[in-house]
Amino acid sequence: MALKALDILKLLPQKRGCKECGCPTCLAFAMKLAQKQARIDECPYVSDDSKAALEGASAPPMKLVTIGGGDNKLEIGNETVMFRHEETFHHPPGIAVRVPDDLDAEALAARVAAIGDLKWVRVGMDIRANVVAVQNASCDAERFKAAVQAASKLDLPMVLIAERAAHVAAALEVCADKKPLIHAARPDNWQEFAQVAKEKACPLAVKASEPEALLELTGKIKAAGVEDMVLDVTADGLSATLQALTKIRRLALKKGVRDLGYPSMAVAAGDDAFQEVAQAATYVAKYAGIVVTGLCKPEQILPLLTVRQNVFTDPRKPIQVEPAVYEVGAATPQSPVLITTNFSLTYYTVEGEVEASRVPAYIGVVDTEGTSVLTAFASDKLTAEGVAALLKSGAFKDKVSHRKVIIPGYVAAMSGALADESGWEVIVGPREASGIPKFLKTVWTSA
Ligand code: SF4
Repeated sequence: MALKALDILKLLPQKRGCKECGCPTCLAFAMKLAQKQARIDECPYVSDDSKAALEGASAPPMKLVTIGGGDNKLEIGNETVMFRHEETFHHPPGIAVRVPDDLDAEALAARVAAIGDLKWVRVGMDIRANVVAVQNASCDAERFKAAVQAASKLDLPMVLIAERAAHVAAALEVCADKKPLIHAARPDNWQEFAQVAKEKACPLAVKASEPEALLELTGKIKAAGVEDMVLDVTADGLSATLQALTKIRRLALKKGVRDLGYPSMAVAAGDDAFQEVAQAATYVAKYAGIVVTGLCKPEQILPLLTVRQNVFTDPRKPIQVEPAVYEVGAATPQSPVLITTNFSLTYYTVEGEVEASRVPAYIGVVDTEGTSVLTAFASDKLTAEGVAALLKSGAFKDKVSHRKVIIPGYVAAMSGALADESGWEVIVGPREASGIPKFLKTVWTSA
């Protein structure tokens, strides 16, 4: 169990006024350690004995595990809360698309290429299916090795899924430097898998039907010298898997069960693609570090990436764009000026609709602390004064020759005050961004 701050304090050197750890007192440092917000080596005076005793208190309740290397590595685990509103979730799960090695050469190449294309830009961020899981469906070591070699060209973190450790060892001849996740050690074969993982310094997935069985297995594997593990808790169906994911997370974070303090993973499988998407999205939200899916079409993967992006943002900090003036298309001095807020989702929705209209335009973004139009207006973050300040700031001086501004339809009430404050002609635009293309092509061109 984790130590409390006062227990930790007794193990610290307590040098009066030292502050070398960056805290005003040893007690403050002890409190940070207890909350997992500091590392014990930040105090240079802790004795080796105290360090050993404090290791349990300062170690995170869930280990950080890295799969792959370089720019495309995947880091999972190190989570600290059960619910996103308590703090934030830190490490977004890998979305792993499966490549069975029993595909013929052409189909295999097409699948690998398709995985490479599963990427988008959403609200200004790059999102993609970021893991490739090669499965030894053929049970043939040479085919597995060839499929792994083909998939390794994607330069993504990899999962090697095989029943036999010898087949994994053969495949590692062509990708050991990528430090793939080896899947999976089970109660009946864990020694062989642990040996391969240890020799190649790769993380190891551990699979058992019950959390209790996992607990026993991870202890043995750790004693065999493998530190980095991922717990595969896939059970019979969505409900049982979700319960296992939740139980393990709770035992690790709330009960301090060290042998379950690893990120987990789940394999989605449904009777049809729709069910599999729903299942995979559930595992993304709660609490898988990697979700493996056999789906590969853009319309199947994009919803998973969207859920992941939404769940793994800090709820205390809405995603925002820089307040500024943005040009969409080849804007000219006659182009329209639209106003919106700096909430990313709002901005990129407006930008997308302006782009779709094919009417080049300027979008003036007001700092509303990342809130949407109505929220910002209701909380006085989007005001006539604020918009007027942007219009009068000179940001448009060299950009447009007219003095007309389009405001969102939802804030039509500010039009009079804005006209008075800024001296610009105020045009009330559509309420919803979806109305922008028609508005720009009809109302604006005749304005
Ligand atoms: Fe105390 Fe160590 Fe921090 Fe100094 S560095 S204040 S001794 S905890």
